[in-house]
Amino acid sequence: MSDQPLDLGVLHPATRAVHAGERLDTGSARPTANPLHLSTSYSYETTDELDDAFDNSATSYVYSRHGSPNTRAFEAAIAALEETDAAIAYPSGMAAINAALTYAAEPGSHILASRDIYGATVGTLRTHFQRYGVTHTFVDILELDAVARAAHEMRPAAIILESISNPLIRVADIASLAGIAREVNALLIVDNTFASPVLMRPATLGADMVVHSTTKFLAGHGDTTGGVIATNAEIAPIIREQARISGAMAGPFDSWLTLRGIKTLAVRMRQHSENAAAVVSWLTNDPRVDRIYYPGLNATIPESQFTNAWRGAMLSFEINGAGKADVSRFLDSLELIQSATTLGDVYSLALYPAMSSHRGLSPEERAAIGIADNLVRISVGIEAVEDIIADLDRALTATTTH
Ligand code: PLP
Repeated sequence: MSDQPLDLGVLHPATRAVHAGERLDTGSARPTANPLHLSTSYSYETTDELDDAFDNSATSYVYSRHGSPNTRAFEAAIAALEETDAAIAYPSGMAAINAALTYAAEPGSHILASRDIYGATVGTLRTHFQRYGVTHTFVDILELDAVARAAHEMRPAAIILESISNPLIRVADIASLAGIAREVNALLIVDNTFASPVLMRPATLGADMVVHSTTKFLAGHGDTTGGVIATNAEIAPIIREQARISGAMAGPFDSWLTLRGIKTLAVRMRQHSENAAAVVSWLTNDPRVDRIYYPGLNATIPESQFTNAWRGAMLSFEINGAGKADVSRFLDSLELIQSATTLGDVYSLALYPAMSSHRGLSPEERAAIGIADNLVRISVGIEAVEDIIADLDRALTATTTH
């Protein structure tokens, strides 16, 4: 197709309406910010070029489900941050987790999963994968001897865990787990959502696939849903092809928003971490609060695994003696902190795991993992920490003095 601008003047108004304003050439002017490319498809001057583009569709553009400039830019940023050969974007974190497990498993395979993991990850293992003949076992990922025993016994296709777990904020020893996975020839899949690559880079510790819900810290502003798998050059083309044929491809606008968020990831993670540390030291020894969950507080953590002194935004705590109604009172009394089913935004957020992220588990299953009915999870935002603490103080008082 010719690259020449159309002579609109000789065309009918209906045709002008369709084509006017298209094919703009910015000449040698390059936009400093990443432009948004919403186009569904790409045309080329010659059919031979289009033919080449089909052959090299991992690097060229044909059709948005095969990749768009915004999605590729976002993927390149993730690969650079996670220090992997490549990254593949998905429309949600769960799409990425399902894609990673689908790559790893086949009917008859077994998956070893951390028992302290996001509820929907439990859900997909229990429903979707089970249905296709992929079985699973949950293990306490901090008990390395027990994990090794289970791995040798079950010979899993994959071990899946979260670098910082949801909702008990426990830090997995990724290098040791990678060693166990190698011994039994299993893939190590690490959900790095809570840490973000600013705090931890699991692939450098031996993870084969690093997954994220980019909905959270990476995008950071609570206005887009997405996921990603960062992985090596062997796995990447296979899961990219799978994403293309299964239709699990991120859209350009979500990719654009996420890349925009990533630009401030490091400064946000520093502020999140400083604020969360201040909230934890304020909560400590408060009689209204029972157990507090925060990296390094109630379990030793592999310190060297962190790339710096920051420990992230996530913390959970138990309200002393509280039942479901008291937790509801606490959440309803918050004025600044929003009670919402997400995390990782610039805003401070509170969540009740028993009602929200882990409601799919029975009360007995939650209790066995340690998710108590008085546990609340806070994703500490980047507001002034004094305001966050004042809000928690007010809500705890309203809960415990009614
Ligand atoms: N992984 C973790 C640790 C999460 O907390 C979540 C969602 O809360 C997901 C994955 C799923 O991500 P999404 O909601 O983007 O599908």
